[in-house]
Amino acid sequence: MLLKIDNLNVLVGDKQILHNYNLNIDKGEIHAIMGPNGSGKSTLAKVIMGADDYKIINGDIYYNDEDITKLEVDERARKGIFLAMQSPLEIEGINNADFLRTALNTKTKTNVDIYQFIKETEDAINELKMDLNMLHRSINSGFSGGERKKNEILQMKILKPKLIILDEIDSGLDIDSLKIVAHNILQYQQENKEVSILIITHYPRLLNYIKPDYVHIMTCGKIVKSGDYELALKIENQGYNNVKTIKNQNNKESTIKEKEEHE
Ligand code: ADP
Ligand code: MG
Repeated sequence: MLLKIDNLNVLVGDKQILHNYNLNIDKGEIHAIMGPNGSGKSTLAKVIMGADDYKIINGDIYYNDEDITKLEVDERARKGIFLAMQSPLEIEGINNADFLRTALNTKTKTNVDIYQFIKETEDAINELKMDLNMLHRSINSGFSGGERKKNEILQMKILKPKLIILDEIDSGLDIDSLKIVAHNILQYQQENKEVSILIITHYPRLLNYIKPDYVHIMTCGKIVKSGDYELALKIENQGYNNVKTIKNQNNKESTIKEKEEHE
């Protein structure tokens, strides 16, 4: 198992966001998580990455069978976990290329050859149909929403992670850019068959290009239903309300069952 989330409970401030959360992702698998706004999807993504404004009160995260629950963000990145953020930050005064090279040096614990770095980065930029001068601007400074998303995928291509988490990578992308981004992600996975992807999205459109093996529906900090690609299409047609009904029925059933067991 590449990623195993075991009974995770997470607080933001004093509000519990994730409840007894379980998720298993094997090597080479593509999983999608869909769910209404505020259901805790970005929280999940950031907790897997190790952001420190979230408090884990219970449960564990395993990566390659190692408990990483207490590791810092940079240690997780070094092990090959990568998060493309829903809202990539703008960092004034730090040049995009310098940032990438430092991140790559940190990850590989070597000084990467500068000429090889430039060549690889320029190739990656061209494959993403980005403007070469974006390499030499401050990170995301003045970038459009779509350019920021492409810049996240540029980082992915350079850092070569094993577990890729894409938090609403499709938001802010026009249809042509969406195709380019999807193509780059797919190509990366086809060249690296053991790479696993967790896609967080509202729309099946991206899943059309990157077909998930599993689709999970998340509401109120829990996975309430899992299925395959068909489930994503159902959600697109019927919305999340239908899933809530299923959840309520399940809850009722389990309450009755617990009662019976107690009696
Ligand atoms: P989603 O990505 O599914 O839309 P989020 O994980 O972003 O949901 O948010 C889940 C809930 O946690 C929301 O109610 C949000 O307001 C709250 N939340 C997330 N991050 C913070 C934070 N840093 N401080 C306070 N509340 C937060
Ligand atoms: Mg979100």
